Amino acid sequence: MLPTKYIFVTGGVTSSLGKGIISASIGKLLQARGYNVTIQKLDPYINVDPGTLNPYEHGECYVTEDGAETDLDLGHYERFLSIPTSQANNVTTGIIYQSVIDKERKGDYLGKTVQVIPHITDEIKRRIQLLGKKHKFDVVITEIGGTVGDIESLPYIESVRQLKWELGLFNCLVIHLTLVPYLSSSGELKTKPTQHSVKVLLENGIQPDILILRTEKSLNYDIRKKVALFCNVDISSVIESIDASTIYEVPILMQNEKLDVTILKKLNLPENEAPKLNQWKQFVKKLKNPKTTVKIGLVGKYVELADSYKSIMESFQHASAINECKTDLTCIQSEDINENNVNEKLRNLKGILVAPGFGNRGVEGKILSAKYSRENNVPYFGICLGMQCAVIEFARNVLGFKKAHSTEMNHSTSHPVIDLMEEQKEITEKGGTMRLGTYSCIIREDTKVYNAYKKKEINERHRHRYEFNNRYLEKFEKAGMIAAGINPDTNLVEIIEIRDHKWFVGVQFHPEYSSTVINPNPLFVDFVKTALNQ
Ligand code: GLN
Repeated sequence: MLPTKYIFVTGGVTSSLGKGIISASIGKLLQARGYNVTIQKLDPYINVDPGTLNPYEHGECYVTEDGAETDLDLGHYERFLSIPTSQANNVTTGIIYQSVIDKERKGDYLGKTVQVIPHITDEIKRRIQLLGKKHKFDVVITEIGGTVGDIESLPYIESVRQLKWELGLFNCLVIHLTLVPYLSSSGELKTKPTQHSVKVLLENGIQPDILILRTEKSLNYDIRKKVALFCNVDISSVIESIDASTIYEVPILMQNEKLDVTILKKLNLPENEAPKLNQWKQFVKKLKNPKTTVKIGLVGKYVELADSYKSIMESFQHASAINECKTDLTCIQSEDINENNVNEKLRNLKGILVAPGFGNRGVEGKILSAKYSRENNVPYFGICLGMQCAVIEFARNVLGFKKAHSTEMNHSTSHPVIDLMEEQKEITEKGGTMRLGTYSCIIREDTKVYNAYKKKEINERHRHRYEFNNRYLEKFEKAGMIAAGINPDTNLVEIIEIRDHKWFVGVQFHPEYSSTVINPNPLFVDFVKTALNQ
């Protein structure tokens, strides 16, 4: 077997150029040519993981099957490649320093002074190669977070420099993503920022092999030639990445630019058969040519930043394409919803999704949204806190427990219908201590959820501390809200459903993490379908 090859994706000029989408697209194209690939993300921040970060900082926290709280780019990798990532696919400066300091305390460095070079860089290189060594991938793609020139990124860039040297020709590639801005006053595309950014890489000892240029206008031959000349790359290695109407078009655009062929040549790997990407293209075609539109409301408290609900939004894209419609997603700030305006705010919606979340802010608006959906027979989809709010609402207004709440919001409520599990009560640390990762759930066959999944046992990912309080289950079921899905090992309620309703489903897990282009999540598909058919 050939040694694992490594591709590094770095970014220059500005952040938010879409390194994650480019990395995922490269992965997709190589996978489509028969290569076994994986993608990892190195994040330069000092948090051990993004689990403790407010979504306003870096957007959503994505959860892997093995329960790692990771950067949202891992979501893109899974949605594009349809293969699971894991804890090892996301490394942060926090993780690196934590393991180096642990080793130092154990005396592993035998009295040496512990330094960024070689100790931190050795740990980074070890982590980069871990996936390649353990899982026998043909190609490991590593996305380096941040922008070259950032102080935080330096140890990572230095590690890439060392690895490029150690792994040798044909085994390692650096792909650098930059921006070519368009100046409308002079009608020109400017390459200078790209030249400068490549200079910064060169100062750090790295000659990039391929340049991908983000641009809003097509790049002509002269511009490509100029970049090639100034940045020491051949012209076939200057790749245009023009703004696309959907991220899912990027692999197709990259294939048109022959990025995959250039990569394989430089890695000395056979081209194999050119991928047709039929299923993928079919999906993009449906996404871009919807037959109808359906208006759905997303009620949450982080709605000002679209990235906070990334996976939910992408799941709607997958579900819409299959239903040949466009989901017009209206984001509603739950803090702004009150008894006086709830009808007016939710009136035009064909379906309501109440989002996950933590803490008290905006929770009453979510509970009111659940009440509105229940009373007006509007399809309701509650995810995690969204399920808990539906349970609280039902307890207050149907069972008559006026003070019912989750003990997360009201510690001394008379009716704790959502409560902490015993094992969570002793935990004081915040990081990585929730119920995290994949758990099994057995679905009742006479339910809408079963109709959606069409199977009895499902596995979905969790990220929460609080649970449905089983002490109240009988009362709920008698009144018409049933446990449609149960965890077979712990008996915890994972899904609730209102029997006498068009579609009222709350799930304790996060179905949005498992939705991919090729395998859209069945609950999103069925929710959109129901909303559409009204
Ligand atoms: N805050 C709730 C809990 O911890 C719900 C979490 C979520 O929505 N992800 O149980």
